[in-house]
Amino acid sequence: MRARPHHLIDIITQYGAGQPFQPSAYGHAVHTVAAEVIANPDVEVEFGIGADDICAPCIHLVDGRCDDVIAFFDPPSSKHDYNDALDEKLLAFLGMAEGEVMTFRRYLAVLRSHMDGLPDLCAWPGQDADERRKNLEAGLSKLGA
Ligand code: SF4
Repeated sequence: MRARPHHLIDIITQYGAGQPFQPSAYGHAVHTVAAEVIANPDVEVEFGIGADDICAPCIHLVDGRCDDVIAFFDPPSSKHDYNDALDEKLLAFLGMAEGEVMTFRRYLAVLRSHMDGLPDLCAWPGQDADERRKNLEAGLSKLGA
């Protein structure tokens, strides 16, 4: 499996919040990837910047790029560019390299050891990082990390 680091963090956070994973109108694979990693934490994940297995079936993936726009940013911003910048920062923060492969279980441990500052890094501009922290910590705990 290939994944953007923040996509798996979003899945863990949603799991911690107790929100169900359901198919999206976008057609992306959040719900199937979530089911896969939750059912089998020993699955190997290649971490990278750029479109991943979640993006693969998404209607917004066009020629390898996300064409979606973050409309509530002022000015509106390319989601692809925002995500690339976020994942680049995350890899550096977590001490990981582009293309690094580790199990989802190992990734959970890496996240747990970087909780100081991680929710702030992942929060949208203006978003409450404390709420993110609470749900991410809950997700990690539910997954045994
Ligand atoms: S980042 Fe873009 S292409 Fe990937 S799942 Fe989200 S909306 Fe779809």
